[in-house]
Amino acid sequence: HDLTPLIEAHVRDIPDHPQPGVVFKDITPLLAAPEAFSAVVDGLAAACDPDTVDVVVGLEARGFILGAPVALRLGAGFVPIRKAGKLPAATLGESYALEYGSATVEMHADAIAPGSRVLVVDDVLATGGTGQAAVRLVQRAGGTVVGFSVLMELAFLRGREKLSDVKLHALSTV
Ligand code: 5GP
Repeated sequence: HDLTPLIEAHVRDIPDHPQPGVVFKDITPLLAAPEAFSAVVDGLAAACDPDTVDVVVGLEARGFILGAPVALRLGAGFVPIRKAGKLPAATLGESYALEYGSATVEMHADAIAPGSRVLVVDDVLATGGTGQAAVRLVQRAGGTVVGFSVLMELAFLRGREKLSDVKLHALSTV
């Protein structure tokens, strides 16, 4: 069923974070409400048939909180994609442009076996830069992205256009 009312009731707008003019979607009230948190994890996991997913990839940091329980629901492994410099072993990296400057995300080079079927999970899809970099990392490792699940899509930022070859599953859209 439609989780939009539940998500809207548990995600709050924080004006001017992390910089003036940006309205940040804060999901911490949702994480603090166990029934809402559980319903959202079920919704994110419903993007894929459990038999079709080997690995859930979560994007730092809220994609870890959401992606780990999704992986357990699906009976899949969990792999983190992190900001540059955090992972201890050999990594693959992808850089992407921000409004000012660039950012890099990394994944352990041996985290995904070639041929693995991967569901990517994050909290918010904004401009799509992070998601696109994550998809590239999975593909470079030889994995196939079978789905990309987010709690909330900020449609006015058009991130979906950067993920055009991926099955995007947004539980709510703003
Ligand atoms: P993008 O690369 O799509 O512009 O930004 C997406 C990344 O930034 C995601 O990892 C997401 O967690 C974070 N992000 C961007 N805007 C918001 C927001 O308003 N709320 C939250 N919770 N995360 C955001």
